[in-house]
Amino acid sequence: QARLMWPLMGLMRIALDLQTSSALFARIFEYLDLVPAIVDRPDARAVPSEGLGLVEFDDVVFRYPDVSDESPATLREVSFTIEPGQFAAFVGPSGAGKTTVSYLIPRLHEASSGVVRFAGVDVRELGQEELMRNIGIVSQETYLFHASIADNLRYARPDATQEQIETAARKANIHETIVSFPDAYDTIVGERGYRLSGGEKQRVAIARVLLKDPAVLILDEATSALDSVSEGIVQSALEEASRGRTTIAIAHRLSTIVEADVIFVVDNGRVVEQGTHERLLGLGGVYAGLFRRQVSED
Ligand code: ADP
Ligand code: MG
Repeated sequence: QARLMWPLMGLMRIALDLQTSSALFARIFEYLDLVPAIVDRPDARAVPSEGLGLVEFDDVVFRYPDVSDESPATLREVSFTIEPGQFAAFVGPSGAGKTTVSYLIPRLHEASSGVVRFAGVDVRELGQEELMRNIGIVSQETYLFHASIADNLRYARPDATQEQIETAARKANIHETIVSFPDAYDTIVGERGYRLSGGEKQRVAIARVLLKDPAVLILDEATSALDSVSEGIVQSALEEASRGRTTIAIAHRLSTIVEADVIFVVDNGRVVEQGTHERLLGLGGVYAGLFRRQVSED
C-alpha cells in the first residue's frame, strides 16, 4: 500500500541515522519489499541550488506497477509548474490522484511517461538521498519511534543543538507541551512509550520539518484526522512552517487553501482546473461545486 510508504521511508532513515533496536530493524525489513526499487544512476547529479523550490510536471502519465495496462492510468497527462516559494494546493475527490502526485516529487515512484522536474532537473538524474533532503513531508500519520522526543526531532538534523531543537518546537507550538511531559525533551515516546495525541504528533512532525528546513514542503491532508481544536493549532504551526519555502498542500478542507497562490483541481487522474480561489469560483466548474458543497456542510 502506497499510503504506508511515507512513514516507512522515514522509518528506514531513522534506523540508519540512529541505529535503533534490532526489533525495529526487523519490522523495517518486513516492509522493505513495499518500497519501490528506485536506484540512483551512476552519474546522479546533486540538486542545483539555483532553481531550488521549483517543481514541474510535464505531461506526466503514471500507472502503479501492479495495475494492468488496460485500465486507465492513475495520472494522465498531468502538467503544472509550481514556482519557488509559492503555496500550491491540490484538491479534488478522494481517489483522484493527489497523493500519487506527491509520491512522484521525491521519486518514490517514477513517471511511466513524461517528466517530473525538481529545481529544473529531471528527478531521475538526481540522487535520491539528496532529493529527499530537500523535501519535507507532513501527512496524516506521523510515526514516532521508541526514543526520546529530542531524538525524534534530531533525526531530521542529526547535528542540531538543544537550542535549535527548542526553537523549532516553539515555532511548531509544541515546546510548552513537551516541557509539561514527565521528562520534558527526554520523554520516551512511540508505541510503548508516552502517548502523544494526534495533534501533538503532528506538531512534532512540523518541528522536524522546521529543523530539516527543506526547500519544498508537502502537506498531505495533515490536519484531516484531527478534531477542530487541535486542527486550529496545527494549522497555525503549518503556516509558520510553510513560510519562505515552496509548499504543496493536499487539502481536504478548502478553507485552509483559499489564500493559495495556485490551486490545482484533480479529478480522475487529471488536472482539470487551475488558478486562484477567486478565478476557480468564477469558472463555476468542479472547484466551485466542491466549495459550495463544503460551505453548505459547515
Ligand atoms: P487521492 O490522494 O486523491 O485520494 P490517491 O493518489 O491516493 O488519491 O489514489 C489515486 C488512485 O490510485 C486511486 O484509485 C487509488 O486506489 C489508486 N492507488 C493508490 N495507491 C495505489 C497502489 N499502491 N497501487 C495501485 N493503485 C493505487
Ligand atoms: Mg490522498
